[in-house]
Amino acid sequence: MKERDNLLEKYSSRVFKNRKTHITQLEGDSDTIAANTRAIPGILTARGCCYAGCKGVVVGPIKDAVTITHGPIGCAFYSWGTRRNKAKPSYKGEQNFIPYSFCTDMRPTDIVFGGEKKLEQGIDEIMEMFNPKCIFICSTCPIGLIGDDVQAVARRVEKKYGITAVGFSCEGYKGVSQSAGHHIANNGLMRQIIGSGDMKPKGKYSVNILGEYNIGGDGWEQERILKKIGYEVVSVFTGDGSYETIKNAHLADLNLVMCHRSINYVAQMMKTKYGIDWLKVNFIGIGATCKSLRMMAEYFNDPELTKRTEEVIAEELEAISDDVEYYKSMLKGKTAGIFVGGSRSHHYQALLRDFGIETIIAGYEFAHRDDYEGRDIIPSIKPDADSKNIEEITVSPDEELYHERYSAEQIEQLKERGVELDTYDGMFPDMKKGYIVVDDYNVFETDELIKTMKPDIFFSGIKDKYAIQKSGVVSRQMHSYDYSGPYAGFNGAVIFGRDVAMSIYTNAWALITPPWKSTPILEGVVGGEK
Ligand code: SF4
Repeated sequence: MKERDNLLEKYSSRVFKNRKTHITQLEGDSDTIAANTRAIPGILTARGCCYAGCKGVVVGPIKDAVTITHGPIGCAFYSWGTRRNKAKPSYKGEQNFIPYSFCTDMRPTDIVFGGEKKLEQGIDEIMEMFNPKCIFICSTCPIGLIGDDVQAVARRVEKKYGITAVGFSCEGYKGVSQSAGHHIANNGLMRQIIGSGDMKPKGKYSVNILGEYNIGGDGWEQERILKKIGYEVVSVFTGDGSYETIKNAHLADLNLVMCHRSINYVAQMMKTKYGIDWLKVNFIGIGATCKSLRMMAEYFNDPELTKRTEEVIAEELEAISDDVEYYKSMLKGKTAGIFVGGSRSHHYQALLRDFGIETIIAGYEFAHRDDYEGRDIIPSIKPDADSKNIEEITVSPDEELYHERYSAEQIEQLKERGVELDTYDGMFPDMKKGYIVVDDYNVFETDELIKTMKPDIFFSGIKDKYAIQKSGVVSRQMHSYDYSGPYAGFNGAVIFGRDVAMSIYTNAWALITPPWKSTPILEGVVGGEK
């Protein structure tokens, strides 16, 4: 297809051979894509590292745990407060360490003689000053190279202070992207935290929200809606989440999965160990939120809950309909490109469609093939050398706590009724023929696709934003929401519509070309003619 071929033909033969498998111009049912492989050196990938996926994404937002970055200062400094996973104490006196960044600040002598001692001293200081109930130790690049044993330190600390301490070997060079860090974080939470509490939910319908990081308050908007209907939210993984609640997650009735990429391991392991089903939801988008709420009601199969769900949906839609119509009148017919991490490039297509915007280019930094093509593809994914060194843990049904909510037959019936249980179909089915999907996109491909596909607006991250805007195309940050949000749920949709309309209709776009470049400023006559 034209745009894809134009893009690829600019590469040298070796790069061409690799990149052609990561760029797909959709044709129909049998589209495939290569993903979760090494980035090409020097190509300016947008990817981050394993530490970013573990500390930055999954465990860092747990507010009442102290997360220590074990390594030189850079990793801790650049990940300090830059991801907008909001958190506040849920009750008076609850600890909230989110504003802090803790680091062992390793120096050359620690590299030479080892950093375990410094780490333990640092933890002694933390215990004295903050007395947390839980400590996470996140390893950075040098830790694995010099052989510090963060798991052994965690065990010593647990014994010494009677707290929970988890060591994560999430050195930045592990795997090929943030994705390896998600997996390592999931393993640690499953091994040491989930299942260690015994506080049963009090409500009739209880859920955990998995893979929701409360960027700009997204999780709070979701909780507002769920509580209004009558759900009890036992825990959130991990935006505004806490060690105290995640301990009890295994006692909830249902897991709701927002970001499939970062948390599907926990969802699957909780299904095996405790029998909790997981439902792929999307609370980004008005239509998507309604669909997710209806699937939840269908799962619990209680007429009262179904009635309440419909009442809340009607009330919420009524409250936002005028604003949505107004922004839709400004945005209908526009086109968009989205390059984000591992789930939003799919989730946001639903919200954009609510405003009449079509997503013609989409891509992920670190998704796997199942995020593009659906989970059915998993058995055929061949692990390579980079993924083989990420530990896979296996769990078995817990003798006391396993309890099957529905039989396999009932689950099949629910699936037939449209309840997306224990499965995810990925991004491809929601996109049309001719649209482009790029895995592990880079600066050159972003620039070229903007030139050939000409989207009206482009959503990606901080590293791309200003280059895109300098080329005259509106860019909005889809990781940080450009310091706005929330964008989830019903109220979030209105804020999103407002932000997109504001960005596209900013007067400055008409002023990029100076007047003297488009209209002559001197007028005169030649050779005395009149
Ligand atoms: S790659 Fe290594 S040095 Fe860079 S942020 Fe990740 S852990 Fe730190």
